[in-house]
Amino acid sequence: MISLIKGDITKIKVNAIVNAANTSLLGGGGVDGAIHRAGGAAILEECKQIRAKQGGCDVGEAVITTGGNLPAKYVIHTVGPVWNGGHKGEPELLANCYRNALRLAIAHGVNTIAFPNISTGIYRFPKPEAADIAIREVQQFVATDNSLDEIFFVCFDDENYSLYKVRL
Ligand code: ADP
Repeated sequence: MISLIKGDITKIKVNAIVNAANTSLLGGGGVDGAIHRAGGAAILEECKQIRAKQGGCDVGEAVITTGGNLPAKYVIHTVGPVWNGGHKGEPELLANCYRNALRLAIAHGVNTIAFPNISTGIYRFPKPEAADIAIREVQQFVATDNSLDEIFFVCFDDENYSLYKVRL
């Protein structure tokens, strides 16, 4: 089941929340900052260990850590593309974020997951196009894999919430 929520993803009680991280995995602004602040030092510790092993996270890829002090057990960190006009592979890279986050979730036995609107803040991906991609990828995934009970899109801003509402 795919559901829409308006609010702060750090408050959602699911097995895993997805973070719109950056390639450094060392935290940043927006939802990334909110997750690290609310989740505490354990998340950054694990991110640093992953960095030491594989040198961060590429755009479109995903890694998983503890949820630390969050209600969620895990945080799946994925790195969205920075919007550069749309001809630098941004749509495909954004699709990869959703796909890879979902794959990683399944591999860890996650059955409830919440996504923020990846790339639509500091990375400036146009919100309508990003919503189309996010919904398409999640719908395609659940059509072939039924191991997830609930997938939430968590919209923080009114514009994204309205865009998702008319599409879902
Ligand atoms: P990116 O760098 O991928 O664009 P941002 O964090 O700047 O990441 O923005 C991604 C989306 O996250 C934006 O739509 C923004 O409104 C939203 N956002 C910011 N804070 C939160 C939060 N606490 N919970 C859920 N979404 C959030």
